[in-house]
Amino acid sequence: MLRTWLSLLALVIAAALLLACARGEPVDLLVTGGTVVTMDADRRVIEDGAVAVRGERIVAVGSASELNRRYRARHRLQADGRLVLPGLINAHTHAAMSLYRGVADDLDLEEWLQDYIFPLEAKLTTPESVYWGTKLAALEMIRGGITTFVDMYYFEDKVAEASAEAGLRVVAGETILDFPSPDFKTPAEALRWTEDFINRWQGHPLVIPAVAPHSAYTCSRETLQAAAELARRTGAPLLIHLAESKLTVDQGRKKYGQSPVAYLAELGLFDVPTLAAHCIWLDEQDQILLAEKGVGCVHNPTSNMKLASGVAPVIALRAAGVPVGLGTDGAASNNDLNLFEEMDLAAKLQKLSSGDPKALPAADALALATVEGARALGLEQEIGSLEVGKRADLIVVQRNAPHAIPFYDVYAQIVYTLKASDVVASVINGQVVLQDGRVLTLDEAALRQRVAEYARAVRAVLEEQP
Ligand SMILES: [Zn+2]
Repeated sequence: MLRTWLSLLALVIAAALLLACARGEPVDLLVTGGTVVTMDADRRVIEDGAVAVRGERIVAVGSASELNRRYRARHRLQADGRLVLPGLINAHTHAAMSLYRGVADDLDLEEWLQDYIFPLEAKLTTPESVYWGTKLAALEMIRGGITTFVDMYYFEDKVAEASAEAGLRVVAGETILDFPSPDFKTPAEALRWTEDFINRWQGHPLVIPAVAPHSAYTCSRETLQAAAELARRTGAPLLIHLAESKLTVDQGRKKYGQSPVAYLAELGLFDVPTLAAHCIWLDEQDQILLAEKGVGCVHNPTSNMKLASGVAPVIALRAAGVPVGLGTDGAASNNDLNLFEEMDLAAKLQKLSSGDPKALPAADALALATVEGARALGLEQEIGSLEVGKRADLIVVQRNAPHAIPFYDVYAQIVYTLKASDVVASVINGQVVLQDGRVLTLDEAALRQRVAEYARAVRAVLEEQP
């Protein structure tokens, strides 16, 4: 009798186990069937791969057949015949300047700023315009495969709000200046506000608040020191523009008797995690100092070429051990927010300026926009590659457009031929935000209407100009 019972029990257990295996462990999302370009340390590329997501994070990366067996998915994203990549990181921009896209071009930086951008910002940059401008930028960035961006502008609460609503990850820093900005009259006000801003947003799943003194030449010694102290006290990262124009670097050398890099290091700015945009006019000592201090740099090739700022020493910086990210800068000086274009141009600019076609190969250009950008931001544990434990930030890219066939080398294809418009799906923090080319988190029609209204206001201000 006992024997019969035991064999019956064994039968039941075996059947339950079989059933459990057939159904698999539950996950929220399974992206399956594409070529998965992981950008992990081994640079694994998995043909017919899959990525499993639970909540905000990646729980498995492997072959589609294995993950289909192991997991039972609540949602599926079919990526057959497509590429699955880590989401791209736009490490330096001013998102809301999208409303000023193309207002003035082919000018000197001074003329562009003084005659166009500053007057427009004084009249039109409000919390509402920043909110809608950021939403426009979010629409463009999500459609183009960007899943994280780093912003320095005004009314950053609105940047954080608009980005969170769009489901887009943002590192947001309120610009701190020594002269009046559209929202603050003094740097002390901006610093005080930044501290409250950090307290409001720190710990948000998509928003990382930062401290953002504009630059060495627009902030006093006291302002810069106070900004570094605030970053140290709150644990927020610090964002700054560094060595963008030769003129300000030469002036800085005269004023401080040392390079801006040495000057900022002396003030303690690099003793907190710092992301420095541009980093063009650096000498060898500067590069060594940035590496020693663990500063991340952001290369903005289009903006640097368009404003004739110069060529950032990307190869030398990386050789010195400085992590380099890639940015679009603002849409008013680019004029789009397209990291596929930046990857392509970053690679070609280094080749042209060094006279070496082997400089910055395609795989490295993709690294700048993904895993190395994450390292420059100090977020390498969280984003930048498709690895277990990281946030589920990934994109699906089609590769069958006329410009993309035939297909031989995955990295060359991504960097030199694929376009932002080839991105068909995007997942950020585990949430599908773009599917079949449509952004699910934004009301595009309402947004387009708002943008048209702002464009009319911009035209009116430009017509009043002398
Ligand atoms: Zn900038």
